[in-house]
Amino acid sequence: MEEKSSNSQIDPLRILANVTHELKTPLHSILTVASLLKSESDGPLSPEQQKQVDIILRNGERLLSLITDLLAFSTEKDQISVSPLALPNIIKGVTLRLSPLAEKGEVKINTFFPDKEEVFYSDEKLITLILDNILTNAVKFSGIRGDVEVYYRYLDPISYQSIRKTEEATTSGLEIVISDSGIGIDPLAKENIFKEFYQADSGNTRKFGGVGLGLSLVNNAVSKLGGEIQLQSELGSGSIFKIIIPNLESSYVKPSILVVGDDQLLVDAIRLILLDELFTFSSVGQDFSPSIIAENKTDVIILDLNDGLLVENSSFKRVENSELLKNIPVLGLSSSFDPAERAKYLSACQITDILVKPFQKEELLLKIKLLLA
Ligand code: ADP
Repeated sequence: MEEKSSNSQIDPLRILANVTHELKTPLHSILTVASLLKSESDGPLSPEQQKQVDIILRNGERLLSLITDLLAFSTEKDQISVSPLALPNIIKGVTLRLSPLAEKGEVKINTFFPDKEEVFYSDEKLITLILDNILTNAVKFSGIRGDVEVYYRYLDPISYQSIRKTEEATTSGLEIVISDSGIGIDPLAKENIFKEFYQADSGNTRKFGGVGLGLSLVNNAVSKLGGEIQLQSELGSGSIFKIIIPNLESSYVKPSILVVGDDQLLVDAIRLILLDELFTFSSVGQDFSPSIIAENKTDVIILDLNDGLLVENSSFKRVENSELLKNIPVLGLSSSFDPAERAKYLSACQITDILVKPFQKEELLLKIKLLLA
């Protein structure tokens, strides 16, 4: 057993903050080239080449998100961003990213979802970071043909209170359990594995890679969310990591969406979708003015492009250079599939993104989510 650099005078996260930019630039180029290859603009790829490009993209994106998360930690950002979680999607995304690593070791990742989903509020980025790191370890330390299981359950306030052994818990909670059939963790190492740059066994380090940062990031993330980690493990008998976190519903601020458009049917349809999904909704027609943005504390504007009519003649066009509009993303709704037409909209009136009508509920929600991120 060996503890690395824990007494070092150098602040590793500060160094990390300084080199992040250097890491990001070449990674962006790699991802851009891989996306170009995937688009097959220079000729078709064989099925095997397509798989290989997908692996570059998935892992490049994982690396990018890790670098981004490390930067967030290294600059000590304490704010968290609370929103309703789509846990099945988060878990599927993480397991998909890990599938090349799992396939390499013939490790099976089994996921179990509860029969009934509930609305649970937390920080999606931190939850993803937690799952990403614990699951990567579970796969890595499972060796060949191991088994990894992920499941979660919602806890009512009484269960949450008893699991957290706290008296004042009035909130509900969530328990995520990740277990593996791997090499296990020495009881003496359990105390230390959540420290920065600690690795339980240098022999395994060479075998499995990694730098010993993952679990310290997990530890920071879980405490930011007000939760705790429980670890059960024995050498040779696998490991079980339990993450127990509170529902942060009371910290959720509903994003405010302003729809600008005259088509009442469309406006009503969007209203139905958004109110279902916990947004604050308001709408306005031709009499749009920047003051409405301030009044509603608007986070995203949805603008019905109405096939150009609104763009050219509307009050929206007249105020597009307003200071109030500068920092607010605008999602244009267009009936046109023509890329040239859409490019015209994008440059003509500061539209951040375009959604083609008619659209599915999920498509609209995804676009809004990306614009809010
Ligand atoms: P890394 O995996 O990059 O080395 P982590 O901080 O994620 O760093 O983990 C620290 C150490 O904890 C690992 O090097 C390993 O020794 C031990 N460890 C973490 N997860 C597991 C696991 N599921 N099974 C066995 N050992 C583990």
